[in-house]
Amino acid sequence: TIELKGISKNFKKNTIIDGLDLFVNAGEFLVLLGPSGCGKSTTLRMIAGLEEPSSGKVLIDSQDRNQTKDDGHTIAMVFQDYALYPNMTVYQNLEYALKVHKVPSKNRTKLIENVLDTLNLTKYRDRLPSQLSGGQKQRVAVGRGMVKKSKIFLLDEPLSNIDVQLREKARDEIQKLHVTNNQTIVYVTHDQLEAMALGDRIAVMNQGIIQMIDIPENIYNQPTNLFVAKFI
Ligand code: ATP
Ligand code: MG
Repeated sequence: TIELKGISKNFKKNTIIDGLDLFVNAGEFLVLLGPSGCGKSTTLRMIAGLEEPSSGKVLIDSQDRNQTKDDGHTIAMVFQDYALYPNMTVYQNLEYALKVHKVPSKNRTKLIENVLDTLNLTKYRDRLPSQLSGGQKQRVAVGRGMVKKSKIFLLDEPLSNIDVQLREKARDEIQKLHVTNNQTIVYVTHDQLEAMALGDRIAVMNQGIIQMIDIPENIYNQPTNLFVAKFI
């Protein structure tokens, strides 16, 4: 489970998140949907422990984020700006996480090759990130998150640069991984259709506040306020 309790976040004098509460069940696929600048990435970064809330608490499996010794097994994250290791090849980018987690090298190959195949990246495996297109880099970022099979998987607009056909395939693979490993997912997007297709529940966010959180059907049919109605 992931729990955010009364989270606020200020940058200098700007309040970006203002009293955010959120509970994500174990094994749930939660989509965080909202317009640009509403605080989605900041929220994910606080869940991942990459950003400190100004006030409030983040609990992972009921334990305070700051007290959990995350060895990297628990959480994987796909960054909006990819954040690939520039001097590692595609293959090495995926392998790195497994090395850190002491997965024996004979087991690594199969895991990595499967993910590369899934994301149509096999022929780029020996290239550096600088030798890839934007969409290819994004797929590497997704692959690097997938290969870990972590308990919690955070994805920040992971398919925004990928063409429609491959996007549907990648979406299916993320779903499959989620089901097979009972992964808890927080998936950020500003694409309404993607949110509808993927989410067990959707949290609609605006100006640092969750406006409504519910199953897709209710978000669509019974929006609780004007913002949600207009945005959907
Ligand atoms: P997008 O859909 O465009 O990625 P987002 O919902 O992910 O948007 P955030 O990146 O969380 O939005 O940013 C929320 C707000 O906080 C924005 O107004 C942004 O300019 C501001 N912000 C984010 N990070 C910082 C920072 N390090 N310093 C100052 N302001 C920041
Ligand atoms: Mg963002």
